Amino acid sequence: MPLVRNIPEGKVGWKKVKCQICGSECWERPEQKQLLKENNNMIACCTKCAIEKVTIRDGVTIRGG
Ligand SMILES: [Zn+2]
Repeated sequence: MPLVRNIPEGKVGWKKVKCQICGSECWERPEQKQLLKENNNMIACCTKCAIEKVTIRDGVTIRGG
């Protein structure tokens, strides 16, 4: 999810939520909510954590938690 830090104004329909990984404030978009509902193994996280997650999946970085 886009970080509030990066997009302070947000857009119509966006909801301010906390990243489930790092706790940063970010924007939840309506289409994202639907996607999460359909995929139980997905969690909502900010753009920063999403990038880190890719790194972890590729086996480059090993990080606790
Ligand atoms: Zn995060």
